[in-house]
Formats: sequence, C-alpha cells, structure tokens
Amino acid sequence: MSKRGEMRVYADNNATTRVADEVMAAMLPFFTEKYANPSSMYAFALEAKRPMEEAREQVAGLINAAHADEIIFTSCGTESDNAAIFGVLEAQPRKRHVIMSAVEHPAVYNLTETLRRHGVRVTHLSVNGEGLVDVEELRHVLSDDTALVSVMWANNETGVLSPMEEICGVAHERGVIVHTDAVQAVGKVPVDVQKVPVDLLSLSGHKFHAPKGVGALYVKRGTRLRPFFVGGHQEHGRRAGTENVPSIVGLGKAAELAQKFLGDEVTRVRGLRDRFEREILARVPYTRVNGHRTLRTPNTTSISFAYVEGEAILLSLSDEGICASSGSACTSGSLEPSHVLRAMGLSHAEAHGTVRFSFSRYTTDAEIDYMLERIPPVIARLRELSPFYPG
Ligand code: PLP
Repeated sequence: MSKRGEMRVYADNNATTRVADEVMAAMLPFFTEKYANPSSMYAFALEAKRPMEEAREQVAGLINAAHADEIIFTSCGTESDNAAIFGVLEAQPRKRHVIMSAVEHPAVYNLTETLRRHGVRVTHLSVNGEGLVDVEELRHVLSDDTALVSVMWANNETGVLSPMEEICGVAHERGVIVHTDAVQAVGKVPVDVQKVPVDLLSLSGHKFHAPKGVGALYVKRGTRLRPFFVGGHQEHGRRAGTENVPSIVGLGKAAELAQKFLGDEVTRVRGLRDRFEREILARVPYTRVNGHRTLRTPNTTSISFAYVEGEAILLSLSDEGICASSGSACTSGSLEPSHVLRAMGLSHAEAHGTVRFSFSRYTTDAEIDYMLERIPPVIARLRELSPFYPG
C-alpha cells in the first residue's frame, strides 16, 4: 500500500506474478486429498499421476511441443537453465565451448565463471543499442568445439526478443545444440518450438500466474542430455526428485490460461504499456525507453530517467504504493549497474537511472492512471536534489 494506504499498484510482473484463482483452485486438492507420491504402485497414486501427465500435455501445448514427454518438470527457471547447460556439456565431453549472449539472466550469465573454472571456453555475443543479438557474430564465433548456443528468447529487463529462428538456423548448420531461456517469453508472446526449432527451452511457472518453485525444461526428442539431478527414476530418469504435484498441476492450468491470454488480452496489455510509456515520455523530460520498440514482450518497459538514481525512484514509488524494479542488482553492498543495459551501450549513470515497469493481465486502466499521476512529481522532486539537473 502507499504510505497513506490508498492504493497498491503491482508493476513488477517480470519479477513474479500473482497466482491465478483458477490455478490456486486446481492445486488445492493435491495437498490434502490427492497427496500420493505419483511414483507409487497403488491406484491412489494414479490420482496424482494422471493430473501430472495432463499438466505435461498442457505445458507441451503452450509451446507446441510435438510430444508431451519432451517436457521435464523442474523446480524453477534457474534449475532448467543449469540443467540444460551442464547436461549438454556432460553429454558431449569432447566439446568445450559455450556461446551465450551478453544480456542473459544471471541464471545463465553467472554460469560463465563456473564453466571457465571447469575448462569450458565461454563467448558472450554482443547486442546492439536496441538490445538485439548479432546473428552474424554468432556465425563467426561458432567452432567445431562448440557444444551449445544459449540465447534468451526475451530479456527480463527490456523485454527485447531475440531472433531465435535465425539463431537456430546458424547453429544447426554447424550441428550445434540451441538452448533458450524463454522464462520471460512463455505466456507473453507466442512460443512454438516446431516453428522455431530450439533443442532445449526453459520456462518458469511464477512468471505466468503459476506458483513460485516450479518450472519446466523442454528437451526435443533425440537431444543428448545428461541428468543434472541424480537420484531416483522420476521423469523417466531425466530429473530425480519426487515431483511437486500440486505446483505441476498449477503450472499446467496456468499454461492453459496463458494460451487464452495470448489472444485479445495481450493486445489490451500492450495498449496499457504503450499508453503508459507514451505519457511518461510526454510528461517527464529527459527520459528514454530502452530496447527495440516492437521486437519486445508486450508487458515490459524499461525507462531511463536522467539525473536521478533508480533506487531513489523505487523507494519514492514504494511510498506511493507502486512496485517496480531497477536495472541494478545490489551485489555485496555495492550497486552494480545492470550488465544488460551496459551491454546496450548505456553509461553507468543512465543504467543507474533506469526503472523497469512490467504489467500483467491483472493490470487495470485505473492503475495506469494512478501511476501517470504519481510518477512525474516523484521524478521532479528527486531531480531538484540533483546538482547536475539543468532544470
Ligand atoms: N531467466 C529469466 C529470463 C528470468 O527472468 C528469471 C527470473 O527472473 C529466471 C531465468 C529465473 O527463474 P526462477 O526464478 O524460476 O528461477
């Protein structure tokens, strides 16, 4: 709530989303009634196993996977990313090169150091000022030693979409496996793994109205992958650990709802985002939007406000009941500017003054109006404190 208790506007849906009521209702019986371990032999276990398999079909349907058994349930997007990258490397021990983009989420990007410690060469593909990966650069850095190309489908900070079809074309020409972190794409833009033939794809439930702590990894049939979690024989021996049935059922329901959302509702959310962006640029001087204007998820806007610190904006917005996110990550007490915005050519100061607003199907017109009323005075007040603000 705002300090005066008037309103809360949640504009941080790329961080997480609220669980949809329908998802919650679908999950509940699996805590107290149908709680069997789906691997058990008795008939009661089927009451858990069957809905889990239905959820696999629903998730496969959302990304148009040809076979439901290409979906492995995991605990989150981070696990899916780690399982894909380490699993592909383990399956091809003679290949010691991984290519990723310079704007990956930490769930991929922060593996760089670990991979290098294990003797794997890592190349970061640069992006242009609009946040787009250079496919020609990919063509040049691929080698016979390359095990994997991992490029995110949609960026979490800017929403910018990668040219995945071209990336697959170039990598597959050289026989190289393609993984994509589609955590920010699934449920927001059409994702069709038969049209865009990635070999592996990560998704995460809590980004599209399923609960936190459940995700999936799509593995195209025939892709060689060693399991990341070793233990029992769950998920056909590809991911050990008792399945989180309630959350998996919730993920399936959320996938079904997301397919519906991708129709008219997505147009409504894009409209809200575009109005918000247009009005902020018109009402607040010295602002800019980061990332390609059209090759972007419809719910995200990354706005740089010159002469102000993103953290100061966020705290002031929080007082107004507005939840948004900055482009910085607070690392061990020092504020590191976002590697994504830096890779796009923004200066330290520009990156520091950046705020990400991300909407969802629960965002209303009234919430956009409220933000448009409250944000300009907040920025004006903070700028008055800046010795550099030209006025
Ligand atoms: N990849 C991207 C692009 C993300 O935005 C996130 C979450 O912010 C993740 C991976 C990690 O997902 P999870 O929180 O489910 O581990």
